[in-house]
Amino acid sequence: MRRQAVPGILTLRGRYVGAAALAAAIFLIDSFTMLSSAVAVLYVLVLILIGDTASERAIRVTAAGCIALALFSFFYGHDEDISLDAALRLLFSLAAILGATFILLQRHGDRQTVASQAELLDVTSDAIFLTDTTDRVIYWNHGAETLYGWSFEEAYGQDPHALLATRCPQSRGTVRAALARDGAWEGEVVQTARDGRAIHVFSRLRRRTEPGRYEGTTLETNTDITLRKAAIEALSQSEQRFRTIFETLAVAIWEHDLRPVKAELDALRAQGVDDLALHLAQHPDVLRRIRASIRVTDVNSTGLRLMGVSSKEEFFTHLDGFLADPDEDFIGFLLAFDSGAPHFQNEATVRTRQGELLRVLVAFNFPPAEMLDRVQASVLNITERIRVQEALQRTRSQLDHALRAATIGEVSATIAHEINQPLAAISAHAAAASRWMDRDPPNLAEVRASLDAAGEAARHASHVVRRVRSFMTKVEPERVSLEVDALVGEAVRLVQHEIAANGVALTPMLEAEDLTIEGDRIMLQQVLINLITNAVQAMQATPAGERRVAVRTWRVAGGVGIEIRDSGPGFAADAAQKAFEPFFTTKANGMGLGLAMCRTIVNAHDGEIRIDPPGEAWGGRISITLPARGNLRQP
Ligand code: ADP
Repeated sequence: MRRQAVPGILTLRGRYVGAAALAAAIFLIDSFTMLSSAVAVLYVLVLILIGDTASERAIRVTAAGCIALALFSFFYGHDEDISLDAALRLLFSLAAILGATFILLQRHGDRQTVASQAELLDVTSDAIFLTDTTDRVIYWNHGAETLYGWSFEEAYGQDPHALLATRCPQSRGTVRAALARDGAWEGEVVQTARDGRAIHVFSRLRRRTEPGRYEGTTLETNTDITLRKAAIEALSQSEQRFRTIFETLAVAIWEHDLRPVKAELDALRAQGVDDLALHLAQHPDVLRRIRASIRVTDVNSTGLRLMGVSSKEEFFTHLDGFLADPDEDFIGFLLAFDSGAPHFQNEATVRTRQGELLRVLVAFNFPPAEMLDRVQASVLNITERIRVQEALQRTRSQLDHALRAATIGEVSATIAHEINQPLAAISAHAAAASRWMDRDPPNLAEVRASLDAAGEAARHASHVVRRVRSFMTKVEPERVSLEVDALVGEAVRLVQHEIAANGVALTPMLEAEDLTIEGDRIMLQQVLINLITNAVQAMQATPAGERRVAVRTWRVAGGVGIEIRDSGPGFAADAAQKAFEPFFTTKANGMGLGLAMCRTIVNAHDGEIRIDPPGEAWGGRISITLPARGNLRQP
């Protein structure tokens, strides 16, 4: 009964020693002095001295010892002449020793009972302590030691609420008043453990009113609820967080009670319905009944706004109130729910409070059966997206149409531009043939030559048309091996007539030395013809004897360089900037397609074309680089 014992002045060992000394003293006085009184009665003191703390056996042994000593002293002091007085004194003494022993054994039994009850209190993990009428600790169980960190010895005699710095929602006076009035008080308090830890406890105080040693004491039982409180707090924070998300999410959320749906579906199954889809399709009344049974239990602010409702109280009470879908969509939902699928997502149409039809994307996460009373669906308004998509689709088809029209326009414009030159050549050759015919006699050899030249120009025109068409419709250019100098020479020949007609001196400087490139002969010739024609046209205002065009080819690292320069005025500042843009022209009858076309063709051959700054005595300068065969960039 350690925790309940008030620490005594003497230790157990001290008591035994004292008791032995006292017994010896009594024995000596009783045996060897002439005192004719009941000295042996004093053995009761020996028993009292050890009685409080000794075990049952120790009490019995001590009592037997005391009786033996008393008897020894009696027979030692009285040989044969035993007087009645002396015998009576012995009897009284023995009676006193036996009586004291009996009482001690009884008290020992009581103590044992209390001790075992107190041990029970030690088994509980609750902190239990007892305070006396002055609020000082007189009992402090093992649970209190473990919870607070102070041992019984340390807590003994202290004011527990000062020791534990108890913080109570009510004042100490109020608690005391409740104890005096009702004999009990309970509530949550916060206490501080020895290591400074704050402990939340549920505290039950009982004032003991039964008469006796513990009357007026207070028994306090404290249950540690720190973890429970933290868990509740965490739960409440998580609930709060969920609420905030729920309310502020940009997606509408509706909460439904799906238990009636489950009950209906279970009932159908119990009736032996195997093919649910078929059954629902054949019984639209069942479908509608199930739909009407779905209650809406909550909705977030986004949901309210979406459906044109100002408060939750005014929101639709049943799903049926705003679902405007045909039955098939709802069957899809029921089948997914029935199959035990974890999710369901579908497009649906809802009708707002104002009657507007909205297309929405609905996603359900089906919870376990026991949580079907609150099933959330997220609802995303996709009406606007669908509208935009449709508008985009319309615009795209209009654009396609416009593009087709523009392509046709561009193709025709380009063809017109590209065949101008061969047409002019044909007409010039035809006129020449006619003149040779008019000679007397007609020079038939020249007529034939002119007609051949006209024929070649016509064939070239027809090739050009075919190539331009396929090129504009994004057909890859042909790739054949071409010797650069031969290619350039051929192009020069095709514009020879125009050059001569304009009194231009053309100097070919072909130094590419058998270098070959891969490409489309007609397209590349067109580039050169365009550039030479531009050069000729640029020199309209140049005096007749000063019109010069130089066409140069040379090797560069990895390919060939081709340059066409003229003695005209050169590119105007803005023309040099924009010359390659389609439809840019500074000429009265120009189409602005020549250089744009040249760049497209050169780029399609992995080459580059650029306008160079005018050199001394030269005006317009354009150069092209093309990769040599084998040096083509990989697409
Ligand atoms: P177009 O010949 O129909 O005008 P181009 O695309 O061939 O179309 O040429 C665009 C413009 O570049 C011309 O209008 C002209 O201003 C300028 N340009 C082209 N070649 C030369 C050149 N050799 N010298 C000066 N300017 C030129």
